Amino acid sequence: MNAPLRIAMPAEASAAPKTYRLLIGGRHVEAGDGRTIERRSPGHGFAVSRYAQAGEADVEAAVQAAHKAFEAGPWPRMKASERAAVLLKTADLIEARLEDIARLDALESGKPIAQARGEIAGAVDIWRYAAALARTLSGESYANLGDPMLGVVIREPVGVVSIITPWNFPFLIVSQKLPFALAAGCTAVVKPSEMTSASTFLLGDLLLEAGLPEGVVNVLAGLGADVGAPMVAHPLVEMVSFTGSTRVGKLTMAAAAPSLKKVSMELGGKNGQIVFPDADLEAAADAAVFGGFFNAGECCNAGSRLIVHENIADDFLAAVKRLTAKVKVGDPLDDATRVGAMISTDHLAKVSGYVDAATSEGATIAAGGAGLPANAGQYLDPTIVSGVRPDMAIAREEVFGPVLSVLTFDTVEQAVQIANDTPYGLSAGVWSADIDTCMTVSRGARSGTVWVNTFMEGYPELPFGGYKQSGLGRELGKRAVEDYTEEKTIQFHSGRRTAWWVG
Ligand code: NAD
Repeated sequence: MNAPLRIAMPAEASAAPKTYRLLIGGRHVEAGDGRTIERRSPGHGFAVSRYAQAGEADVEAAVQAAHKAFEAGPWPRMKASERAAVLLKTADLIEARLEDIARLDALESGKPIAQARGEIAGAVDIWRYAAALARTLSGESYANLGDPMLGVVIREPVGVVSIITPWNFPFLIVSQKLPFALAAGCTAVVKPSEMTSASTFLLGDLLLEAGLPEGVVNVLAGLGADVGAPMVAHPLVEMVSFTGSTRVGKLTMAAAAPSLKKVSMELGGKNGQIVFPDADLEAAADAAVFGGFFNAGECCNAGSRLIVHENIADDFLAAVKRLTAKVKVGDPLDDATRVGAMISTDHLAKVSGYVDAATSEGATIAAGGAGLPANAGQYLDPTIVSGVRPDMAIAREEVFGPVLSVLTFDTVEQAVQIANDTPYGLSAGVWSADIDTCMTVSRGARSGTVWVNTFMEGYPELPFGGYKQSGLGRELGKRAVEDYTEEKTIQFHSGRRTAWWVG
């Protein structure tokens, strides 16, 4: 058993929890039935936030506000340059409040503060990218349809969008959706996770400060069943943009089906990093540790499977273990921390359950696996499980914790086959100095992103999303705004129509 972690209590621990009200129609309001949700810091155990807890009546009010802002408000009608100006101003305001936002996310999610700062800086970049795209959104014209005809294809905002986000990257994920929806001219109802809503509430305030008209963005905290479900089913909502688990993603798609809403789904992953003997093994070992333990493994892109060539498996595993021993686990608010707290005790128990099941099926714990007692909060030590077979649950299901499963392969084909042998298809990594090997794996991987000799990088310019049960559609990239539009075809006929149907 490890020595207990010493977690220091921050100033917030001796203050009352910060309170947040719902943002509906540009006003901050309590929930209709007066309920609240309290969020305790998973890294420290004290109550950090208290949000008004929305219910169905609040969803109705928020959707009505978004609908009114779409039907009668200025936002969808103004020039793209004016919308871009609001997005750019929002980016500036986020940048100015970067430290506050990072601290909220670190306190509510347990992620390391240094990492949270990077996420908020990344979000600023995305808001600016979306502002640029607002001005490049355009359609097509067809002057080749014969003399009297001109075909014009225009893009119009889809309407009210319900945006539902998870707890693992509270500010970053809403920033992968909302600025693009706004750039297109849509209005939105946003529901962050009930565990990490504070930074999204703050974003709502920054948007108003930046000049966003009332009702264009509405923010509701609440549970999936009470708030998420009616946000999906509501007849005035035209599109649902969801990031979360594959299980809830399927429920959401089914709930969107009766009203045939457009859906965008960013779901779970079970990603493999494949390491060949000719790779830069030092860099690959570092990436293996990063991939496995970044955000305590609570990451859709986690490289939770290390698929290593059998000729180097023992030495490579030893290098990964050496690096893992150096990973600083502890207080999310400590600048040096690399792995913070787990989101909840229930989730921690679920992750530990996967490790226990794997060992009872014959796998071996190569590092960690013993839990990490602390004077406050809930922590797991980075765990490496070797001797994992592709049929084990730990190799196929999304563990979503700091657990790296090690599998071995012999041929390139076998490596690709193992990498693809899960219901997910979000991302994959390949490490080799040989271009043919890299190309074969990149082409063979059934996943939305492949990293070659690097891992888990992201850029607003590059589309992101999943194959198979990792999702539907893509976020980011130059088409990200188009996702939030409908195409309308307009056919102009000049002169008298001669192709009469009756005489
Ligand atoms: P989750 O599916 O439990 O919840 C996601 C959101 O959906 C939350 O806001 C939740 O309140 C809401 N929700 C729950 N039930 C609902 C319902 N019936 N109808 C509508 N909304 C409902 O996911 P989580 O535990 O918050 O997040 C972790 C999951 O998110 C992991 O599976 C992870 O892989 C995935 N994720 C994917 C990406 C990606 O881009 N592919 C990014 C981050 C996280």
